Amino acid sequence: MSESGTGGSGRGRGPQRAGQGGQGGGQRGGGASRRNAQGRERNRGPQRSYTENAPSQRTRRADPARLVAFEVLRAVAAEDAYANLVLPARIRHHGLDKRDAGFATELSYGALRGQGTYDAVLARCVDRPLDQLDPAVLDALRIGTHQLLAMRVPAHAALDQTVGLARAVIGAGPSALINAVLRKVSAHTLEEWLELLLSDEQDPTKVASVRYAHPEWIVRAFRQSLVAHGRPVTEINDLLEADNAAPVVNLVALPGLGSLDEALENGASPGELVEGSALSSGGDLGRLSSVRAGTTRVQDVGSQLVARAMAALPLSTTEGSGAEGNGPEGTAEAWLDLCAGPGGKAALLGALANERGATLLANEPAPHRAKLVRQALSAVPSGVWKVRTGDGREVGQEQPEAFDRVLVDVPCTGLGALRRRPESRWRRTPKDLADLGPLQRELLKSALDAVKPGGVVAYVTCSPHPAETTAVVTDALRKRDDLELLDAGRALDAVSLTGHLDAGHELTAQLWPHIHRTDAMFLALIRKKP
Ligand code: SAM
Repeated sequence: MSESGTGGSGRGRGPQRAGQGGQGGGQRGGGASRRNAQGRERNRGPQRSYTENAPSQRTRRADPARLVAFEVLRAVAAEDAYANLVLPARIRHHGLDKRDAGFATELSYGALRGQGTYDAVLARCVDRPLDQLDPAVLDALRIGTHQLLAMRVPAHAALDQTVGLARAVIGAGPSALINAVLRKVSAHTLEEWLELLLSDEQDPTKVASVRYAHPEWIVRAFRQSLVAHGRPVTEINDLLEADNAAPVVNLVALPGLGSLDEALENGASPGELVEGSALSSGGDLGRLSSVRAGTTRVQDVGSQLVARAMAALPLSTTEGSGAEGNGPEGTAEAWLDLCAGPGGKAALLGALANERGATLLANEPAPHRAKLVRQALSAVPSGVWKVRTGDGREVGQEQPEAFDRVLVDVPCTGLGALRRRPESRWRRTPKDLADLGPLQRELLKSALDAVKPGGVVAYVTCSPHPAETTAVVTDALRKRDDLELLDAGRALDAVSLTGHLDAGHELTAQLWPHIHRTDAMFLALIRKKP
C-alpha cells in the first residue's frame, strides 16, 4: 500500500567513513542482525577499522536486504521495470522482515534517486568510462556508494557486504574491482566528494545536477517551471532537494464512506491541507479494515485538492443546483473523469458525486487500468458511476455537451512526482514532452467538447512544466471564444483547510513538493460560457 520508501537516509548528514569505526570484517552475512527498527545498521561492539583483507577473506554471502536492492536496480536497468512495483515483490520473495524491508527500500530507492551524484563520484574512482562497466557491476557500485555516502551504515559493513553480494551474484573477479572502487569512494564523505567534483564548476545547472542528482534538462525545466508559475527561481535547490526525500504516505477517507479513525489510532496524523486526509507514519496499511474495504485510500494531498476543487466549484449548468451540484430531481449533475486510470481521483470524485446526487463516468483506454478504476470505485455505490474503456479523445464527439464537470488528468511526464518514482528522472527525456503535447491538447479539446455550456473542465497534470501546463491551456483558449479561465488558486483555497495555499498565479494554480509537501500538481479550471 505504501506510496513511498521508508526514511533512514542520512544523505548529506555526516556519512560514515572508512576506518571510522564499527566491527571488523569478520561477520558473514550479518548485516540484517544489526539493524534497528527503522532498518538502519548501527555500529556495535568493539570499534575496529576494516582490514585490508582481500575480498576472498570476507563475506561471501549476499545479505538478503542488499540482494533485494540489487535485484530492484537490475530490474529497473535491464527490464525497464518500475521500482515501486518490483520492490514489494522482491521483499515478499525473499521473506524480509520489517527491518530488512525498510533497509532494502531505503537502499534501492536511495541508490536510484542518487544515481547522478553517485555516478559522478564513481567516474572519479573507476579507470574507464562507466558505460564500459558490466551494468550489474555498476549497479553493485551504486548500492555500495549509497551506503557509504548517504546511509548510516558503517563503512566496513557497506564494503564487506556489497563485495559479498557481488561475489555471490556476479562473480569473484568483479568483486575485486568493486572492493577496490568502493575503498576509493569511502575515502571521502559526500560533502567532500561534492566539493572535489564541483569546486571548479562554473555552470550552476551542472552544479545543481550533480549535487541534487537530477538530469541537467530537468534542472533547467524546473527553473522554467518556477518562473512560469510565479515563484522565485531561487527556490530551485529546495525543489530539487524535496524530490530526494522519501514522501510521507498520504491517506484520504472517501467522503461519506470512509473514516480516518483507524489510521489515526495507528499513528497517522490529520492532514493539515485538506479535510478527510491523514499523513501515515508508515507501517502496514493493509492491516486497516477501512483500507482493505477501499473506503480509505492512499492518495497524494495534491490530488485530493484538485479533485475537490473541481467538484466544489459553483456552476450554473443545473438549474438551482448551486455550489453543491445536487440539483432538483431530474437535474442531477453528470461528471466525467476522462483519463481515470488507475482511479485515485475517480474514487474521490465518485464518493463526492454520491454525496451530491451526481453521477460519474470514468474513462480509461487501457483495459488493465480500467479494471483498476473499477476496483477503486467499488467502494462507491454502484448506481453512481460507470467505467468506459476507450479513447478519451472520442468522448467529446460521442457525448457533446453532456457533462457538468469534466476532469482531464492527462498523461504527462510526471515531473511533479519524481520523489515517488525514484528511477523516473533518469528515464524521462525532453522528447517525452514533445511526444505528449499533441495528446494532451486533443484530450483537453475532447473535454471541452464534452462539457455543457456553463460547465467546467479541470485540466490537471502531475507536472509543473510549462509545455504541458500553461502552454496547453493557452493554446486551447486561443482557439475558441466560448471559454473562460476561472481562478484555480482561489478554487484550491476554497477547499483547503488553511484557506491560503499560495498556489495561484495568473488564474492557474501549481502545487509544489517544497512548499506544500504535495506532488507538483497543476490545475486550470476552464468554464464553457453559458
Ligand atoms: N486520474 C488518474 C488518477 O488519479 O488515478 C491518473 C491519470 S494518469 C495521469 C493518465 C491516464 O490517462 C493514464 O491512466 C493513461 O492510461 C490514460 N490515457 C492515456 N491515453 C489516453 C487517451 N487517449 N484517452 C484517455 N486516457 C488516456
